[in-house]
Amino acid sequence: MQLSSYEDLRSRLLSKKITCEEVVRFYLERIDRYQDDNIYITVFHDQALERARSLDRKLSAGESVGRLFGLPMAIKDNIAMKGGRLTCASKILGNYESVYDATAVIRLEEEDAIFLGKTNMDEFAMGSSNENSAFGNVPNPFDKNRVPGGSSGGSAAAVANGLAMVSLGSDTGGSVRQPAGFCDIVGLKPTYGRISRYGLVAFASSFDQIGVLARNCDDAALVLEVMAGKDGHDATSSYHAVADYSSEMASISVEGLKIGVPKEYFPDSLNPDVALMVKGKLHELRDQGAELVDIHLPDSEYAIAAYYILVTAEASSNLARFDGARYGFRSEHSEDLSSMYVNSRSEGFGKEVKRRIMLGTYVLSAGYYDTYYKKAQQVRRVFQDRYREALEKVDVIAGPTSPFPPFGIGDKTENPLEMYLADVFTVPASIVGMPAVSVPLGFDSLNLPVGMHLICNFFEEGKLLGIAKKMQHSL
Ligand code: GLN
Repeated sequence: MQLSSYEDLRSRLLSKKITCEEVVRFYLERIDRYQDDNIYITVFHDQALERARSLDRKLSAGESVGRLFGLPMAIKDNIAMKGGRLTCASKILGNYESVYDATAVIRLEEEDAIFLGKTNMDEFAMGSSNENSAFGNVPNPFDKNRVPGGSSGGSAAAVANGLAMVSLGSDTGGSVRQPAGFCDIVGLKPTYGRISRYGLVAFASSFDQIGVLARNCDDAALVLEVMAGKDGHDATSSYHAVADYSSEMASISVEGLKIGVPKEYFPDSLNPDVALMVKGKLHELRDQGAELVDIHLPDSEYAIAAYYILVTAEASSNLARFDGARYGFRSEHSEDLSSMYVNSRSEGFGKEVKRRIMLGTYVLSAGYYDTYYKKAQQVRRVFQDRYREALEKVDVIAGPTSPFPPFGIGDKTENPLEMYLADVFTVPASIVGMPAVSVPLGFDSLNLPVGMHLICNFFEEGKLLGIAKKMQHSL
């Protein structure tokens, strides 16, 4: 079964050339075949088939069907689905079952999507390689010895390997875009507040956004459109009207497009293949009538430092709720309440999560708050002003998604700072809250995927995906 896009699948489903049940069986067989890759943490074998059959009946009965009818999807395991396990790839939530559905999940379900299962990730979405998971490593789909990126590594590998057509991830500093770049697919992080965070387990609440991983920009736009919009359960979700992304995309033309190219995004240390491919694509667009505008985004080198101060501060507070009393895992080796808290957290959290809780507690402590946390907040504001100013002059800001192609499993686990640098090009959009996408450009000299990263102004997702579509290499 060769399924290139949801549009293609939908027309085959609606013309009854194929049934939802056949589609789900096809995907479940592939999922089983890839079992050793740890891509899924939970697979909904029975529920997905049952749902497929009920959708088939709906179609046969002549009832109207939803905008995502029969779309086989995977959901990152930090997004709540009622009655299902919600692990965040952590031992501390290993056996926890969610008691409610995330708003995004409800909206997808209302439009007749089918959920195949929950995908692997870095524990609590902290990481860039999926190696911080309590459920094993996920190999890169194009080279088994390399990482798929993270933290949404399972969601990216699921789409790239054809184990789901579209998946949801979460993006706090690049966790949808970077794995998309490493797996040759499209990864979209919408504007902060565009999609409700209700039911997304919080890592850093002022950064977190649910994002979409797909094989092409049209599928990403459609799924975004369904999930986007105000939600009474999330006070930070936006009232901004949801656009018709497909028609916005269709109105984009390369002729006259102003593409901002910051020199800070092309440092000397950039991997030469990545530089070559990203610049090559930009020159191609220039030849088609786009204008490449040199822009300057000074102080970009402070993005990583500011990001890791702010997100660890928020994480240390958000993760306080996992205390062994209310959710999931509880240590068996405790004599009293306080040792129960300490032991449950010590045994339940992995190394990176603990590191971040300590860092976050430190930067928020009375003696260091002004030096670190407050300073980082000020840097955040400066970045917001700079990116706003830049986007007054250009339509879009372009650069590489990652400074290097997918790296080897184990290569960066001993050096957290080096791992943090993997996010150098993706964190700025998260700091400012603007929408950003990674779009696949093709393969480098070692046959590894390379992604282009694009940022547009607030709520310009349609324009962003329209531009991205012009750059995507054909699959
Ligand atoms: N890799 C980044 C981090 O570890 C981004 C994570 C994310 O976006 N969830 O914080």
